[in-house]
Amino acid sequence: MPDVATLARELGSHKVLLDRADRLLYRYDAIAEGEVPLAVALPETTKDVVRLVRWAARAGVPLVPRGAASGLSGGAVPLVEAVVVAFTRMRELRIHPERRLAEVQPGVVTLEISRAAEPHGLYYPPDPASYRQSTIGGNLAENAGGPQCFKKGVTGDYVAELEWVDAAGEVHRARREAYDVAGLLVGSEGTLGLITRAWLRLEPRPRHTRTLMAYFPEVGAAAEAVSEAIARGVVAAKLEFMDQACVRAVEASFGLGLPTEAAAVLLVDTDGDDLEVVEEELELVAAACEAHGGTVRRAADAAEADRLWQARRAVSPALGRIHPHRMNEDIAVPRSRLPEVVRRIQELGEAYGLPLAQFGHIGDGNLHPNILYDPRETPEERVHELAHEIARVALAFGGVLSGEHGIGLTKRAFLAEALDAETLAALGRIKQALDPEGRLNPGKVLPG
Ligand SMILES: Cc1cc2nc3c(=O)[nH]c(=O)nc-3n(C[C@H](O)[C@H](O)[C@H](O)COP(=O)(O)OP(=O)(O)OC[C@H]3O[C@@H](n4cnc5c(N)ncnc54)[C@H](O)[C@@H]3O)c2cc1C
Repeated sequence: MPDVATLARELGSHKVLLDRADRLLYRYDAIAEGEVPLAVALPETTKDVVRLVRWAARAGVPLVPRGAASGLSGGAVPLVEAVVVAFTRMRELRIHPERRLAEVQPGVVTLEISRAAEPHGLYYPPDPASYRQSTIGGNLAENAGGPQCFKKGVTGDYVAELEWVDAAGEVHRARREAYDVAGLLVGSEGTLGLITRAWLRLEPRPRHTRTLMAYFPEVGAAAEAVSEAIARGVVAAKLEFMDQACVRAVEASFGLGLPTEAAAVLLVDTDGDDLEVVEEELELVAAACEAHGGTVRRAADAAEADRLWQARRAVSPALGRIHPHRMNEDIAVPRSRLPEVVRRIQELGEAYGLPLAQFGHIGDGNLHPNILYDPRETPEERVHELAHEIARVALAFGGVLSGEHGIGLTKRAFLAEALDAETLAALGRIKQALDPEGRLNPGKVLPG
């Protein structure tokens, strides 16, 4: 048993939690429960992280990085006796308007970046629905997306430079140049290094935004409308999909006036500096929706648009309120295959006799089929079996296992079906090179 009291001496006792009651709180993320950590370290500076990693190397203790624990693949959950590294005290945030950059420590909450950039007419586009809660460290480690990802891209597209600490406790700076180590760390889910600072690109705020909601009598029709709008040349700022189960859950919780009789709803924003173009694009989307049997409602003003987007952000908590037990899947498929995929997944749910709720950043081909179940009636194995079938549908239609939530713990077992043996072995060699002792977030991403 490692002597964690020496860690408290190394970092200072106010930066280490040792009480069991405190430690218990750090065994979870938003989806999974793991082991109670040996200790929780709360570093405040990069130097603290270096001391901590060097202590862990000497003591032979694994480290599990953690942001806000809003992750949906079990990434921040300890699976072995480990020290959890909670980055929530590393919250320095500086805007460099002349360079259009935000310089942030990893514990900064995502939305705070855009708030800080606003007085300079700038913003940070990646916008996971969890942005009031998730940290930038977690976003980088998962390469988080959001409603704006179709037009604006995902977290990794905004990284100019990263500072990180390797498994031996050395500090590095990585730019987007030869070997693109920054790109390698993005999406590495805490298994290759600890991110301690990031320089992120900001963009000027578009002057105009227009919003519409379209509802459809059939789920596949909504996906077909998306493909058609894109084929008509529209690059919408946001393109989101919710099926009837999501709409009903949001209405039951928040009463925002969504059409509960519809089989599916699309929420679309167009934006830009030229109002005529923004409105023209919205009308192209409206026409594509109507061509596929959709009924279109344009938001009259910013307040109505806000209400509609609030509804979209409320989907996950609303589903959680009604169905405390659910498995949140996260796949991405080529957009052109979406109509078939949405229908196929719905049929699978029916065949298993398990209700599903599907939503997602459909413009990016990203879909979150949530399996809703009652553990008193359905054994967990059956739910896992359906989740596996959904992952197989994604692969069969040319997609990937994870659109944005990561492989973590929950998708690890499926990775061998998604990648060929040579690719898996190459990933293993990267892990081996950067973390030879396997001390960083063990049990995540790579299968056994
Ligand atoms: C209601 C809800 C809505 C969501 N919507 C979206 C969405 O729209 N898009 C999306 O992409 N995700 C979404 N998520 C998932 C989640 O919010 C994201 O994965 C987010 O990026 C996780 O951030 P976090 O700070 O909570 O990280 P955590 O859950 O704490 O950790 C996630 C991973 O990052 C690693 N990590 C954390 N900090 C560091 C660091 N400094 N260095 C190295 N590794 C680190 C952890 O080890 C873990 O593997 C949603 C979650 C919820 C609950």
